[in-house]
Amino acid sequence: MPTPLKVALLGCGVVGTQVARRLLEHADELASRVGTPLELVGIAVRDAAAPREGVTGTPLADLLTDDAPALVERADVVVELMGGLEPARSLILAAVAHGASVVTANKALLASHGPELFEAADAAGVDVYFEAAVAGAIPIVRPVRESLAGDQVRRVLGIVNGTTNYVLDRMATEGLELDQAVEEAQALGYAEADPTADVEGYDAAAKAAILASLAFHTRVSLDDVAREGITSVTASDVAWAQRTGHVIKLLAIAERNAADGADGIQVRVHPALVPTDHPLAGVRGAFNAVFVEAEAAGELMFYGRGAGGAPTASAVLGDLVSVARHRVLGGRGPVESSYAALPVLPATAARTRFQVRLEVADRPGVLAQVAHALAEHDVSIEAVRQSPGVRTDAEGADVALLLLTTHTAPEGALAATVAALTELDAVHDVVSVLRVEGA
Ligand code: NAP
Repeated sequence: MPTPLKVALLGCGVVGTQVARRLLEHADELASRVGTPLELVGIAVRDAAAPREGVTGTPLADLLTDDAPALVERADVVVELMGGLEPARSLILAAVAHGASVVTANKALLASHGPELFEAADAAGVDVYFEAAVAGAIPIVRPVRESLAGDQVRRVLGIVNGTTNYVLDRMATEGLELDQAVEEAQALGYAEADPTADVEGYDAAAKAAILASLAFHTRVSLDDVAREGITSVTASDVAWAQRTGHVIKLLAIAERNAADGADGIQVRVHPALVPTDHPLAGVRGAFNAVFVEAEAAGELMFYGRGAGGAPTASAVLGDLVSVARHRVLGGRGPVESSYAALPVLPATAARTRFQVRLEVADRPGVLAQVAHALAEHDVSIEAVRQSPGVRTDAEGADVALLLLTTHTAPEGALAATVAALTELDAVHDVVSVLRVEGA
């Protein structure tokens, strides 16, 4: 009988409970896949005495402990599913220091302390795996790190936050305003009581940092990601998107940018108009998808459930089998690399197309003034749509709506253009400025 590998689980919440349950229920199958049994030696929680659904009254209850540091000391593999920065970071470093391999789903920790953890893992010769940290059940970390290791990734576009995708989808299908759709998502358990991390784009930004690091072999941290959430998206924006053949999605974007003499990467999260015939436009509800453009492979899309206890547990257990096999066979799996060390360019360096919606005085010559303001900043217009007489202003004069779509332009030039437009007497309001991606 081969010696079992001792597995310590840190956290017994939404994901941890599913991982623990499946470790016991599928013990024989997992042992065959690894080549040795996996012995769950303990589950660390804050309060071991608290009643827990799906745990109290089962064999898992006997494994609960509130002494996480002692549990880590006696493990061969540590599975961190407690979340947050501390004590998760210290416990992972302690695990690595005594030679244990680590599996984690903690995107926030990786996006802020990834390099420290990977360097410690390199020094100790152990694995730190994190497939579940980006897009839950979807295999994306390994495809980008391993399957595409012989290719050059040009761009990654991801819908990596299910809550905001659900909210935007409901706004599109039901005509809801943002706060109504968020309330609905909260009632269904898709959104937290405090939805800030999702709607302000923090969660997506952490995942964007991880994906960008992998895709471009460069250290990208959360601070490098230009972030804009969905809080300014209105029902009217969504309706106009539909009228022009688009849907609005919160995208995490990482791309190589070699324009204007710069060679670096640009990483950002923001709502964007996506043409309805783009594969990402069909990602509905709380689903996630990551669209990768690579030099030789061309376009690839990875689609599935980005959260939830069981789907996330699938990715965690896949990592657990891999790191356990490496221990049985000796050695470790492919490691993170940062050899390219490309500069991370500022948000103003991003180049994309924009759709700008303006309310203007409905009189001759206004379109020429607007076009002139764009031309002065080297932003060229691809299309103009004008709706006359949408309302009257305080003096009773007609107001028209102008919808401008630009050719690709630097973000900085567009910002300067918008500032110039707001100065024009004929422009009553810059109603919205949305980037167009995936066209
Ligand atoms: P959760 O339901 O909040 O569970 C967290 C667990 O960790 C709880 O059992 C908690 O103990 C324990 N814990 C927290 N702080 C602790 C501490 N200081 N000492 C000991 N135990 C502590 O979280 P989750 O949703 O399962 O998420 C876990 C991780 O997976 C996070 O990093 C998250 O970002 C990631 N993730 C989650 C999902 C998802 O769908 N939920 C998807 C992808 C990735 P108590 O029960 O005693 O409070």
